[in-house]
Amino acid sequence: MTGAARRWAVVPAAGRGERFGRATPKQYLKLRGRAVLSWSIRAMLADRSIRGVVVAIAAGDRRFRRLPEAEDPRVRSCIGGARRELSVAHALECLSDVARDADWVLIHDAARPCLHREDLRRLLAQAGRDSNGGLLALPVGDTLKRAVDRNRVAATVPREGLWRALTPQLFRYGVLRRALRLCLTHGREVTDEASAVEALGLRPVLVQGRGDNIKLTNPEDLALAAAILAARR
Ligand code: C5P
Repeated sequence: MTGAARRWAVVPAAGRGERFGRATPKQYLKLRGRAVLSWSIRAMLADRSIRGVVVAIAAGDRRFRRLPEAEDPRVRSCIGGARRELSVAHALECLSDVARDADWVLIHDAARPCLHREDLRRLLAQAGRDSNGGLLALPVGDTLKRAVDRNRVAATVPREGLWRALTPQLFRYGVLRRALRLCLTHGREVTDEASAVEALGLRPVLVQGRGDNIKLTNPEDLALAAAILAARR
């Protein structure tokens, strides 16, 4: 390999956000004057070391091209898949003309508009010097219950050593491609990119992130995200 490893970003934005219960997919809802997806893309573009951002969008999506970020020379789009990991795999494929195996790729959920610049900087610094890559994550703070019969407590689960996985996640381009291919071929469940990389036998590093890097999951999260962004100004 010649030349230093470069950095790319993938933003999977092909979900329909059904849990959110709105006609407009959650990544296109308005949040403090711009689309949720615009905030997430801008969080990647804010780091000048990121050479390009691929946004995976749903087939037939006519909203993406109307976002101002779609005009940015560092941004391109591709059609995503029926599941998140397929959307990410398509976006990685879309980078194959420019990315080398040793390059780094960040994967950041479209539905996480509140990524703080400092979290991104810390992830790039800490996971970027670990050959296994890594992810932003938060140690679990609440007491955990396992349920039976839908909502009866069966047990209290020790939370020691448990973290919640956030995004962005950072891996070598070649490693992540290989990991996703392996999982897709063997029908393994992939809930985040780290879980695919773990299936290769690697141990990504957990980089502690901020609690306000929320993922929009339920309708009330939109007001929470607006308050988080307002408090930063
Ligand atoms: O639904 P959930 O919030 O877990 O989705 C996480 C991210 O993955 C979102 O940004 C969503 O748009 C994206 N996604 C995707 N392709 C899918 C499903 C989800 O790009 N088929």
